[in-house]
Amino acid sequence: MGIKVCKFGGTSMADGNVILSAAKIVNADEERRYVVVSAPGKRFSGDIKVTDLLYQWSDAFEANDTKSFEDAFEKISVRFLNIEREIGKPLGVEKALAEMKKAVLDGAGRDYCASRGEFLAAKIMAEVLEVPFVDATEFVRFDKEGVLSEETFTLGAKVLSKYPRAVIPGFYGLGADGKVKTFSRGGGDISGSIVARSVMASLYENWTDVSGFYACDPRIVNSPKWISELSYQELRELSYMGANVLHSESIFPVRSAGIPIRICNTFRPEDAGTYIVKTSKRDVSENVVTGVAGRKDFTVISLEKSMMNSEVGFVKKVLAVIDRHGISFEHLPSGVDTMSLVIDNAYLKNGALQTIMEEMKEAVRPDRIYAHENIALVATVGHGMAKNVGTSARLFNAISEAGINVIMIDQGSSEMNIIVGVENDDCAACISAIYNEFFK
Ligand code: ASP
Repeated sequence: MGIKVCKFGGTSMADGNVILSAAKIVNADEERRYVVVSAPGKRFSGDIKVTDLLYQWSDAFEANDTKSFEDAFEKISVRFLNIEREIGKPLGVEKALAEMKKAVLDGAGRDYCASRGEFLAAKIMAEVLEVPFVDATEFVRFDKEGVLSEETFTLGAKVLSKYPRAVIPGFYGLGADGKVKTFSRGGGDISGSIVARSVMASLYENWTDVSGFYACDPRIVNSPKWISELSYQELRELSYMGANVLHSESIFPVRSAGIPIRICNTFRPEDAGTYIVKTSKRDVSENVVTGVAGRKDFTVISLEKSMMNSEVGFVKKVLAVIDRHGISFEHLPSGVDTMSLVIDNAYLKNGALQTIMEEMKEAVRPDRIYAHENIALVATVGHGMAKNVGTSARLFNAISEAGINVIMIDQGSSEMNIIVGVENDDCAACISAIYNEFFK
């Protein structure tokens, strides 16, 4: 008998009734032995996720703003007390809320505060399922650099082997300083993957509010094609580029063990979902492209200098500048006498763009340096692209027929993705032109 790890996202934990549906899903299959949960998410559009309320609460504490602190605590309490009422049995919510408030007032810190949504949600799910609660701090460990430590998996195997079934909170673990540390937003998906690898699961089921991956964002193209199976690599490319069904880092723990991930819909549990596997068996002659995704708000910094190609150390000097500022880059397309750096706008706020361009001028004395701001990157992804002649011709033809100007092109060395940079405003039109070319 295999072991399945189920991770329920925020919308699957949003109120008492959905939590009961999630519990029913777990109980429907005895292989579903380990359950990882997110904090309660949005119940309706315009609602606020518990994690966002917890960040507001922490900000109010830091700012010494008693009124906002109490207001946020009230909202958080109401969410959890309602869940307890809807579930209809005592779950110890009031006591847990009081303990959490005390710890925050004693200075437990921002990450501790943010992690309490998952902590309480897991306590509730454990009571509902009548299964032990195991805290993530018992085995999810980060090193001094804040990177997930390898020790996590051996510890996880050891701790979880004591429990044939368990409920574990997602999104956090223990930092090297012994304090609670969270992953980046949406990181509960990574926790699910960690648990799956620790118990060497046969399947990691990620339960969310959609029935899997679509070939592009359904908000851009009406009813896009559903994808039955994706490779880990395709998933990484698509989720990094904006297909936000699953956190892009969540494949790493399961990938080396070859554990498949299945995306399932809590609200339509009978749907097949999307499988994410090591090697996809989809027919690549039929599916040249697997999916198209886009992300906005990048800046392209371009440098031109005659004879750049023969100047030893040119690229190294340019990269040393961004390195000094702790900035990472996304892509580095280059020509004989030109190179460009594609950087997320988030790194370039408050004059940082001007500063690094000045420093680059100093470092390599280019003939010309300029920045193109507000660029969207659109990635066309698929293993089939490497084997099908003419794919890029079709892609660029479709973009040009839609009247869209391409600012930058980059093809990944694996030949499974082509990335184009277009104006932010052209992002949706570019995705839809590519989708129509390959899927209609
Ligand atoms: N609750 C966290 C967030 O909203 C983590 C998660 O849901 O995966 O980002």
